[in-house]
Amino acid sequence: MNSFDVIVIGGGPAGCAMALDLNRRGYNVALCDQAKFPRDKVCGEFISPGADPILEQLGVLGSIEALAPKRLKGVAISSYESAELEIDYPSSSDTGLRPSSLSVPRYQLDALLLNQVQSAGVKVFEQYKVSDFLFDNGSVAGVQGWDENKTSFSLNSKLVVDAGGRNAISLRKFSLKQEPKGNTKIAFSAHWQGVRLPDDYCYMHVSRPGYTGISSVGNDRTNVVLVVDRSALGGEGGEKAEAFYHRVLMKNSRRRNILQGGQRVEPVRSVESLAFSVRPIPCGGLILVGDAMGFIDPFTGEGIYLSLRSSQIAGEVIHAGFQSSNFSRKSLSVYEAKRKEEFGGKFMLSRVLQGLIYNRPFCNWIMKSLSTNQALAETLAGVIGDILPAKKVVSVEFLYQLVVGAFKGNADLKKALD
Ligand SMILES: Cc1cc2nc3c(=O)[nH]c(=O)nc-3n(C[C@H](O)[C@H](O)[C@H](O)COP(=O)(O)OP(=O)(O)OC[C@H]3O[C@@H](n4cnc5c(N)ncnc54)[C@H](O)[C@@H]3O)c2cc1C
Repeated sequence: MNSFDVIVIGGGPAGCAMALDLNRRGYNVALCDQAKFPRDKVCGEFISPGADPILEQLGVLGSIEALAPKRLKGVAISSYESAELEIDYPSSSDTGLRPSSLSVPRYQLDALLLNQVQSAGVKVFEQYKVSDFLFDNGSVAGVQGWDENKTSFSLNSKLVVDAGGRNAISLRKFSLKQEPKGNTKIAFSAHWQGVRLPDDYCYMHVSRPGYTGISSVGNDRTNVVLVVDRSALGGEGGEKAEAFYHRVLMKNSRRRNILQGGQRVEPVRSVESLAFSVRPIPCGGLILVGDAMGFIDPFTGEGIYLSLRSSQIAGEVIHAGFQSSNFSRKSLSVYEAKRKEEFGGKFMLSRVLQGLIYNRPFCNWIMKSLSTNQALAETLAGVIGDILPAKKVVSVEFLYQLVVGAFKGNADLKKALD
């Protein structure tokens, strides 16, 4: 009863996708989450359109649509209080239709995913906190921890998948986390009511000391996320988080126009130290998926897609491991290589964009360049939305067109290069 083929730690998008994938392949799977669902998360809450087919395959797309979420046409970006540039996702070359991105509260989305896991027959242990691993010959062979009554538990398995997010137990146990030196970021989020957004876009406003993402999540709820350098908040004795959140939001005139008719309807939540990368796992029997594998600043908002997709890639590697009865560190490292191969270009693009937005002249000239070339702007939205490969943007041709566009309509370019 306490022995499974695979134990998944974490019931977020990555853990649920992993459990459903392995269950569908016929494996006996258990999933432990320390939380009681529904539980909330600091998140922009819009899901790349590229995730739709995965959600469909997992059998949850219909139930998500039944929640009456918002479908967004793309992004509307304002650079340092300029008018928002609305960029739609590009139409599909197969159907001619334009895709859209789901925007849905995590409180609902994650509970719905976990419910699907339970219905599929996976053994779900809610309020089970994994505190350590069990080992057999140096390889991970199960987990142990504490349930909601503070009673200890232990579960055995042939393989453990850690989908525990940014604070995953593996990161601490094996000292895998590598955080960038220097200024760390902090994100705040809260839902608002009564906000009148001009159209169905995710509104991204870039200005000092950071940026915001504002999008409707349906049912007259708007999610307002603010990301800034941690230092902007001050140290101990600095401004209180809620006062800071409101002051910075309203400082930007474009944001003020959007938010002034609305009001915040829940406490402001925050998460610190956003970006990190992960060292290779030092033993067999263990795979990391989702945020546990590393995280980049959320400006391009693709974490849920990456979590779902990384679980699909891991599913193939785990299946091969069962067929050859081999879960050694070397055989499982194929997963890391595949993941890098698929996401490498996208990560590079996200890092470049995140670097550029903090430079006002560069940010302005990119926006002006994109405003002169709709196809170029839509290609960028397509890559960010995970419906076009990153190589469409990470290319000399794209850069050339960006520079040409910038010269067409941009006096700021000279300033940026000076
Ligand atoms: C400010 C911000 C904005 C973002 N905006 C977007 C966006 O708009 N779109 C997007 O796609 N992504 C966005 N993301 C990223 C997205 O939130 C994450 O990529 C996504 O939640 C990762 O899913 P996950 O399943 O890996 O982890 P999580 O969703 O964090 O789930 C991990 C689960 O593991 C459980 N757990 C952890 N440790 C243990 C343990 N020891 N024992 C038992 N259970 C455990 C936790 O309780 C939790 O339920 C944003 C992130 C931030 C910080």
